[in-house]
Amino acid sequence: MIHFSILKKSKKSRARLGLLETPHGVVETPAFVGVATQATVKAMTMDQVRSTGMQLLIANTYHLHIRPGEDVVKKGGGLHKFMDWDRPLMTDSGGFQVFSLGFGKDRGTGKILKEKSDEKIREGEQPRTVRITEDGVEFRSYVDGRKLFIGPRESMRIQEKLGADIIFNFDECTSPIADHAYTKKSLDKTHRWARVCIDSKKSKQALYGVVQGGKFKDLRIESAEFMNKLPFAGFGIGGEFGDDKRQMTKMIDWVVSELDEARPRHLLGIGYLEDMPKIIASGIDTFDCIVPTHYARRGVAFTSRGRLDIGRTEFLSDKKPLDPKCSCFVCQNHTRSYLSHLLRAHEITPLTLLSFHNMHYFNAYVSMLREDIKKGNL
Ligand SMILES: [Zn+2]
Repeated sequence: MIHFSILKKSKKSRARLGLLETPHGVVETPAFVGVATQATVKAMTMDQVRSTGMQLLIANTYHLHIRPGEDVVKKGGGLHKFMDWDRPLMTDSGGFQVFSLGFGKDRGTGKILKEKSDEKIREGEQPRTVRITEDGVEFRSYVDGRKLFIGPRESMRIQEKLGADIIFNFDECTSPIADHAYTKKSLDKTHRWARVCIDSKKSKQALYGVVQGGKFKDLRIESAEFMNKLPFAGFGIGGEFGDDKRQMTKMIDWVVSELDEARPRHLLGIGYLEDMPKIIASGIDTFDCIVPTHYARRGVAFTSRGRLDIGRTEFLSDKKPLDPKCSCFVCQNHTRSYLSHLLRAHEITPLTLLSFHNMHYFNAYVSMLREDIKKGNL
């Protein structure tokens, strides 16, 4: 069970300040949600993750189902205990990964199209590597080739065993190149599955309903209206966001205007720094993104001066911290020069140090945006 209260609503935008109470503590919203795909934040210990100010993590149902399996996690005391995370925790439904391994892999598309494309996925088409049926999706394990099946009931059973505070309904996440007819049909299925998820959930976990509908305004609105009528504890906004980021903000606006104000809204898988003020102003309360750790492992630090590629030669003689304004322990104790040296020597420690700084930086940035709402500036 969760309880969401709104402390302040912006007069300038749809932004709101809130408190999301869960069995594992309270999240101040808007909040950045760290990604713990395989029950870990890559290259970091849980103590380090806590020290970055991280309030909430999201783990991945699809990956944990394939390996080690939800039964291992359950025997380990549930996901919180298994990974030593005592704060609030979400699991996604597995839908995004299952489907992105289908059409996404066939066509090389993600959530946002990198280039304009004339290619279309039409009604009735099937991806090569997974089989989508009326009841769910058949696919093969990338670990050992086993045939697996996830549908709405299976997703609920898996997420109940994992035991996060907040779980999501099983949905089909359509590709950015799916046409209107395909998306409409897929949406009807996602809506049918939403009812199955509600009816088959046995736990007291908070279940969020994910709004889909691709880039089509009529379908996004239809989906938001539909999900809003169901007794979900909150909402996810999922799927692809059209051809560019401007479209994303527009799309969030269509959806949010149909949703109940009193329930929390989570934006799935989006959260570059430059997106944050926009998505918060559109009324999003929480959002997850792999960006801080993903870039850290490629040697990139996020700073008030933009992204720095720390492995480059110019930083070898730079005695400044990653960000002179950052209060994290990496910036207090280490220079760009040292971190650049470690990266160039292919050590693994800088991956941890950069991940720590980036996570801290993202959390501090969202904390600043919460202050902006408080002061009436956002
Ligand atoms: Zn720092």
